[in-house]
Amino acid sequence: MSARESTDSRPTAPLRLLAVHAHPDDEASKGAATMASYAAAGVEVMVATCTGGERGSILNPGAEDDPAGKRDLAGLRRREMAASQAALGIRHRWLGFTDSGLPEGDPLPDLPFGCFALQPLERAAAPLVKLVREFRPHVIISYDENGGYPHPDHIMAHKVAVEAFAAAGDPERYPGTGSAWEPSKLYYDRAFNPERFRALHFALEEAGLKSPYAERIAAWQETDAEGHQPPAPTHATTTQIECGDFFEVRDEALRSHRTQVDPNGFFFAVSPDLQRKVWPWEDYSLIESRVETDLPETDLFAGIR
Ligand SMILES: [Zn+2]
Repeated sequence: MSARESTDSRPTAPLRLLAVHAHPDDEASKGAATMASYAAAGVEVMVATCTGGERGSILNPGAEDDPAGKRDLAGLRRREMAASQAALGIRHRWLGFTDSGLPEGDPLPDLPFGCFALQPLERAAAPLVKLVREFRPHVIISYDENGGYPHPDHIMAHKVAVEAFAAAGDPERYPGTGSAWEPSKLYYDRAFNPERFRALHFALEEAGLKSPYAERIAAWQETDAEGHQPPAPTHATTTQIECGDFFEVRDEALRSHRTQVDPNGFFFAVSPDLQRKVWPWEDYSLIESRVETDLPETDLFAGIR
């Protein structure tokens, strides 16, 4: 048998990383520097975006007058996604579902007919299972069960990622979506890790700069002091990826999503240099592993390489 025909499935060939996101722009605000750093090191990195972000609003005051956003937000967001993908040096796939929108009001309105969050799990997960079987990632990154924040598409993105991690390796499940492939590790991202915000907040105060996190941190303290339930419990950090050299690349990906990200807003409040000094990592929780690994980790592929 020649090397070309080899069926050896050990991951000596390029390692592969798949991140599952709900909307175009989520890949830029959650784990972007991690993905860029692995891509630069020769890992094949793929982002799967569940929906087209059709029901998003224009969140950048500087982009409100752009007629393309009013005429065809979905089309514009596809172009923004392509620019973000190019900045990060990764591959990208749309999974083809329709944005559910963020319901607002009291009582909350019903979700729109046919949207991603209303799909039965097997239908919602099938395109991702197919992608896992084709791309064959060793590692999958997803949101936690709260979606990182409670947008119905984020919660559904979590569900389909967990389902694909569990089912893609079982040849009996999801027939017609390719040969079984079992990913080795599943992580949840901790992009909104409170320890990170606290560290950045105090570093800004110490430098005499205004912190945009003051309200968020005060809210956490208030809830504690009044004896209310603390914020929804999150999974502890098990894995920190040092990726400070890629913070400018991450920021370029964020700015690519011009309709969604205000260049004078929250995400750019702390300079990359100060972030590198205070918190040069992106943080993850290892949720499931089919390989042996020691915690804490500094590499998503620990135990696989
Ligand atoms: Zn989103």
